[in-house]
Amino acid sequence: MHSGVGNIWYIYATVFHVLLLGSIFVTYFRSPVIQGLKPQQPLPREAPAKRLVLIVADGLRAQSFFYENLSNVPNLRQLIKEQQGLLGISHTRVPTESRPGHIALIAGFYEDPSAVTRGWKENPIEFDTIFQHARRTYAWGSHDILRIFNKSSRRDVEGRLTFDAYNHELDFWGKVKSYELDKWVFSRVEDFLKRKRKILQKVDKVYFFLHLLGLDTAGHIHKPQTALFLENLFITEAGIYKIYRLFEQIFEDQKTAYILTSDHGMTDSGSHGAAQPHETETPFYMWGAGINSKSYSTTKYIKLDSNTAMPLYEIEQAQMTPLMSALLGLPPPVNNLGILPRYFLNVSDEYIARAAECNAYQLLEQYKHLLKKHKSGVLSFLLPEYEALSWPSINAIKSYLKQAHFVEDYQTVTNISYNLMEMTLEGIGYYQSYYSMPLLLATTVAMLSWTKYLFNLLNLKKMDSLESVEFKAIVAFCILQKLSWQVSLYLLLPIPVMSLALRDETQGLTPLTFGQIKINITWICAACCFTPKQSQNNKVEVLY
Ligand SMILES: [Zn+2]
Ligand SMILES: [Zn+2]
Repeated sequence: MHSGVGNIWYIYATVFHVLLLGSIFVTYFRSPVIQGLKPQQPLPREAPAKRLVLIVADGLRAQSFFYENLSNVPNLRQLIKEQQGLLGISHTRVPTESRPGHIALIAGFYEDPSAVTRGWKENPIEFDTIFQHARRTYAWGSHDILRIFNKSSRRDVEGRLTFDAYNHELDFWGKVKSYELDKWVFSRVEDFLKRKRKILQKVDKVYFFLHLLGLDTAGHIHKPQTALFLENLFITEAGIYKIYRLFEQIFEDQKTAYILTSDHGMTDSGSHGAAQPHETETPFYMWGAGINSKSYSTTKYIKLDSNTAMPLYEIEQAQMTPLMSALLGLPPPVNNLGILPRYFLNVSDEYIARAAECNAYQLLEQYKHLLKKHKSGVLSFLLPEYEALSWPSINAIKSYLKQAHFVEDYQTVTNISYNLMEMTLEGIGYYQSYYSMPLLLATTVAMLSWTKYLFNLLNLKKMDSLESVEFKAIVAFCILQKLSWQVSLYLLLPIPVMSLALRDETQGLTPLTFGQIKINITWICAACCFTPKQSQNNKVEVLY
């Protein structure tokens, strides 16, 4: 082998493989969080609930909750019989971890995949949550979960967020009594409500967030379905029932809404993170002010005992976010991708119309941001776009909405809003994955070229450097379209690697051969003219 080639080979190989690893993050782990979005206004009508109690039983899977006519949760079963409300399964997405689950519930989007670079612990980019829009939020639970929302609330200068987390000395890992974690939360809530009763009774638009880590800990240590896990479940569900009674004692105005759910499920072996039904199916039970107790179309039912059955509904986890916002008359967080499950609300047609419209405009704001960014590229007039929602059609939809409002046709407002939400979600997916296919193609071409280069090396061919006009053409495209440096880097990657691979020892430093030009031109055409298909990435299966 040529001695110079030998040394350069190591450098090329290291650089190329580091870049190849990085391509995974650029192609798949890009943040969906858009910064600088304008929030919507609160709903201009009285909200059905003054306060909302969100109880997240960490790691509680649907199977443990609904097992044998809810026999694992006898107190809650009694409550369901008395209060009715809505019962069902909330579908989470992977990774079925605590942070992504809580973000889907409280911020309305399916985790920032770039958070994987920080072990799902830190927020790489700040995001909006339901708590930011409330007058007050009181939360109790594990420090690891509460700090996600504390950290994302730096703008909260008025001190509207009161978070009470137990410290690590109270972590019961390795100990039998994991339910002590939940008991700690219940006792703190009880003490707080009794102490602050007078003040709390005067405030509306308040969230109470109870994070109960006991069941997740019990699931990991003892495994679900074991006697020790069930012991924790009995204690926790009895505690929830007691806390509900306490809330009703303190607030007698019938204006409290309650949502009980979990962030993710758990496998029989006590793990979570993947996509098995036991991990992605979490239970929910919601009742109280503003929650619809009347049965509506569903084919699934769950028996409470031999005489009583309740309808069983299904939603996507992120739909909880706009629902909780609507119950308190607040706009959804700006990064929310959930669609309001309108039949879950027991409110007037006008209220539903206004909540749906607010949700649609909040989603549209994200879409408009992406569309503006795409259109700001000099060459965007040559590139395909999401035709269903161009600027003229956005303006037309807005004027239809105004007209329908003017004649108080709230059914039409609702229908237009839901159509707009569907189109907007599809459009957001379209622009967020706009360069995904060209990037995949670029990485594949680079990899194949690298293989060819290695083959050349094995044949002891002499290596020379080459100039590439195509390189300049893609650089120009990336600059004119204002692409990020990461996307530009990977669109350009195949050119130097191909140049290495296609070198001909007889060519020396002369320009590209006919074969090189042909392949490079094919690559440029494929990368630049590839029309992104309408993405399903952010599509939410919606229960309207
Ligand atoms: Zn969890
Ligand atoms: Zn866990």
